[in-house]
Amino acid sequence: MVINLSEQHSLISNWVSELRDVNIQQDRFRFRRNLERIAEATAYEISKVLPFKEIETETPLGIAKSKVLKEQPVLTTILRAGLTMHNGLLNFFDKADNGFIAAYRKHHNDGTFEISLEYMSCPDINDRVLIISDPMLATGASLVKTIHFLKGEGNPKEIHIVTAIACTVGIEYVKREEPSVTIWCGDIDDELTAKSYIVPGLGDAGDLAYGTKNQS
Ligand code: URA
Repeated sequence: MVINLSEQHSLISNWVSELRDVNIQQDRFRFRRNLERIAEATAYEISKVLPFKEIETETPLGIAKSKVLKEQPVLTTILRAGLTMHNGLLNFFDKADNGFIAAYRKHHNDGTFEISLEYMSCPDINDRVLIISDPMLATGASLVKTIHFLKGEGNPKEIHIVTAIACTVGIEYVKREEPSVTIWCGDIDDELTAKSYIVPGLGDAGDLAYGTKNQS
């Protein structure tokens, strides 16, 4: 299932618009905060489809019946660009367990690249709700590789992907490889450049959030 949150006329599309704006995105603090709040709002949307349980809460004046999340999700992100969205999800799912994966594009001299996974730190994901954040779902290759890797470690009962901008090609690839995942996107674009950047997209999310890196 794919949910494009910009179709719902919420503040999310406002924040996506600021992420894309070539002038506004130069303000790194604002860029990171916009990614973070897109993730916060998406966490709220995801919470509506998660199971809740009733509990009794003691107030100063009596006992109130209230509803709380039945179980805590596992939040996992792909370094480095995913860090701000991860933080946004964690601001809302504030008791969640957390996993981190280092995946990057290892470039070859002929212009091609492969996705290299180098580091993983992850709690038990067996029978848990897994929420993976990555701001840009371009080809979907790193996401699918990450999911395959995680599934080698355990068997989550549900997987949600949280992304600021997704490309249709990448969405189709993820759906083909992992049909049961739910993809939550801030917006969807149709084009990819030869170097697999999303068009119109927003540029390099990691560089905009954290500064230009040396290419490896
Ligand atoms: N990663 C980015 O940061 N931007 C894109 O357009 C695609 C992948």
